[in-house]
Amino acid sequence: MSTRGSGSQTIEAIAVIGAGTMGHGIAQVAAASGFRVVLYDIDRDSLARGVNTIEKNLAKGIQLGKVTEYDSERTLQQIHGTTILEHCADVDLIIEAAPENLTLKQEILRKLEATSDRPFIFASNTSSLSITEIARASMRADKVIGMHFFNPVHIMRLVEVVVGEKTSQEVVETVTDVGRHMRKEPIVVKDVPGFASSRLGVALGLEAMRMLEQGVASAKDIDTAMELGYNHPMGPLKLTDLVGLDVRLNIAEYLHRELGSETFRPPQLLRSMVSEGKLGKKSGKGFYDWSGDQQDARRAQSS
Ligand code: NAD
Repeated sequence: MSTRGSGSQTIEAIAVIGAGTMGHGIAQVAAASGFRVVLYDIDRDSLARGVNTIEKNLAKGIQLGKVTEYDSERTLQQIHGTTILEHCADVDLIIEAAPENLTLKQEILRKLEATSDRPFIFASNTSSLSITEIARASMRADKVIGMHFFNPVHIMRLVEVVVGEKTSQEVVETVTDVGRHMRKEPIVVKDVPGFASSRLGVALGLEAMRMLEQGVASAKDIDTAMELGYNHPMGPLKLTDLVGLDVRLNIAEYLHRELGSETFRPPQLLRSMVSEGKLGKKSGKGFYDWSGDQQDARRAQSS
């Protein structure tokens, strides 16, 4: 597989750094689109879990009639899992999905540039960090860009292409082409806090919480307003439960600080719920009661 859009660079092999929630999903989608994929994780167990989840996703796809046995087999053959960074030296594009930490991402970028003499593109899957900041660690800042996928990667169709101060137009076009090859819908966004998706999504979620605080309507009715009135597949409060209230609070604090807008000041309700341990689905309680789901999950694990 290679992509060659108007004036863009040829991409045949992709390395994905980090095999966690996002990394394994990106590797799966890239391999299913025909790219040769190196999936690297620093931790052997995390790598094994990531590869195992790809196998499970594909098996479920076969069960549902969405993936053929042949495609599943071919996808798995395209992925080479490794804990040796040097195995990433021979690729055209590196998609980094390591934990959300600027220093860590910069360190990974520096190491990769020291390991490989290929002029690879480095695309970070960061959901909030500045691409321009990450690129300061690079000797080729024009080749550093954001490629922000959504969870679960094999299902969600959006990819936000985030353009840093020094990112070249050729790199924007190449990465946009790659996104399309992965059957995603790329949008191109300037490198500003919250990009496009988090800024809008978080603003809606925080306003929904303020409405709940003020007793405008119940959580369910606020969600229903967006689901039925605006055709959102899920209301903002239920979505916050799935993302995690702690995660949302962190992003809101960051956007409030960086953008200086009152829109992003975290509501007291959000702060209190987080300090009470009501983090949403993962803790069993958020704006909704998820304790039944947790029992189901525990039963499934022990069976
Ligand atoms: P995760 O914790 O599930 O996975 C991170 C993986 O990186 C782990 O397997 C870990 O072992 C590995 N890792 C740690 N240090 C490493 C290193 N030095 N080199 C290589 N691998 C290393 O995290 P995640 O949720 O997949 O998030 C990854 C990135 O994607 C973050 O920047 C996050 O902000 C972003 N993101 C997450 C989501 C989401 O819904 N989880 C959505 C969009 C973007």
